[in-house]
Amino acid sequence: MKHVIILADGLADHRIERLGDLTPVEFASTPAMDFLAREGVNGQVVTIPDGFQPGSEVANSTILGYDQNKVYEGRGVLEAASIGYDVADDEMAMRCNLLTIDADGNIANHHGGHLTTDEGRQLIDYLNEKLGSERVKFVAGIQYRHLLIIKGGSKYVECAPPHDHPGRSAKELMVKPMAGAVDEPGRMTAAETAALLNQLIEQSGQLLAEHPVNVARRSEGRLQASHIWPWSPGYRPAMKTLSQMFPQIKSGAVISAVDLIKGIGRLAGLEVIEVEGATGLANTNYEGKAAAAIDALRRHDFVFLHVEATDEAGHDGDLDLKVKAIEYLDHRVVAPIIDAVKAMDEKVTIALLPDHATPVEERVHRAEPVPVAIWHPGIVADDVSAYSELASSRGSLGMIYLTDFIKRLMAF
Ligand SMILES: [Zn+2]
Repeated sequence: MKHVIILADGLADHRIERLGDLTPVEFASTPAMDFLAREGVNGQVVTIPDGFQPGSEVANSTILGYDQNKVYEGRGVLEAASIGYDVADDEMAMRCNLLTIDADGNIANHHGGHLTTDEGRQLIDYLNEKLGSERVKFVAGIQYRHLLIIKGGSKYVECAPPHDHPGRSAKELMVKPMAGAVDEPGRMTAAETAALLNQLIEQSGQLLAEHPVNVARRSEGRLQASHIWPWSPGYRPAMKTLSQMFPQIKSGAVISAVDLIKGIGRLAGLEVIEVEGATGLANTNYEGKAAAAIDALRRHDFVFLHVEATDEAGHDGDLDLKVKAIEYLDHRVVAPIIDAVKAMDEKVTIALLPDHATPVEERVHRAEPVPVAIWHPGIVADDVSAYSELASSRGSLGMIYLTDFIKRLMAF
C-alpha cells in the first residue's frame, strides 16, 4: 500500500453567517472531497501539541510524525534544509533577514524594500566576504530571506521576529541572552552569542550603506536593505527520516511552494519536487502540483502534497477567495488524484486534511482539531456523507492525537 497526504493549509474554518451558518468547505462545491469522506473513513486530528503556537511548521511536522518536544528548533534550521544547507552538530542556524532600519533607528519593514533574489545574494555574499570567519557564515537564500550560521553559537538568545515589530525602535529589540540560559559544553555562552549577533547587526549597517546595490536603490528613491536581522536560532533537529520510522516507506516525496515545508520534507528524507508556477497563492499551478504528485506516486511509496492557497485566503480575510481556493483544490488537485489512484495497479491510500484552522473572520491560525478523510479503493466506508469540520467528528476514526495520525495512516 502506498500513501498520499493532501494537506490543505489552513482550510478548516468556522460557521459564517453570510454563508447561512456554514463553514467555507461546507458552502463550497467539493464533490471530490465529499467522495473521500462519503466512500472513506473520517475523524479529527489534533495537530498542535500543548505549549506550541499553531504554526504551519509545527502542525505539518507533527502530521508527519515528529514529536515537537523532541525536534522543534524553529524555522531557521528548516529554511536551511530547504535551500540544501546541512547544519552541522556544532552550528547554530538563524533566519537572517535583510531589512530597512530608517534614519530614526526604527524598523521600517522586514524585507528591505522587496529585494530581488539577485540583490539579496549580492548583499549577503558581500557580508560573508567582509564579516565571515571560522565562526560566522552568511548563506544566501531567496529575496530578503537568508541564513546566518554561528559555529559554536548558543540558541538560548532572545530575538525579535522583525515582521512582528514594524515601526519599533531597533535598539530596543536587539538580541538578549535568555533568562536562565544554561551553558553548554563546547559552545559560547548565550551572552557571548548575543553580543556577537548585535555586533554583526551594527557592522552590517556600515557595510551595506556603501554597497552598490543600496547606492543604486538610494539614487532611484527606493528603500535600502540597510541591516541584517537574525532571528529564530536553532540547532540541527534530531529528526529520523520517515523511512527509518516506517519501513513501508522505502522512499517518499514532498511537493510544496513553502520553504519551511520543503525543509521539513528534506529533513524527513523526502525528495523535494519543484513544480513550475507553484506560488502558494490562489493562482498557483494546481494541475502541475496534482500531476507531480501522481508522477511521484509511481516512483515513491509516500507523497506529501502541501497546498498553501487556502491559508493565504484566510490570512487575507477574503471569504470569496477562500471558497474559491477550496473549490480549485477540490476540482484541480483532489479529483485528478482520485482518478489516477483508481486507475493504478498498486493500491494507494489518500488522506485529506488541513494542518490547522485559519478562520477568515479571525485571519490567524487557530489550534483546534481538523477534519480528516481517508480513502482507498475497496475501503469500507463509515456514515459520514461530506467533508466538513463538523461531519468528520461523527466518523469512525474518532479523535486522533498528534503523531498517532501518521501511525494510523500507515496501518491502512
Ligand atoms: Zn499552515
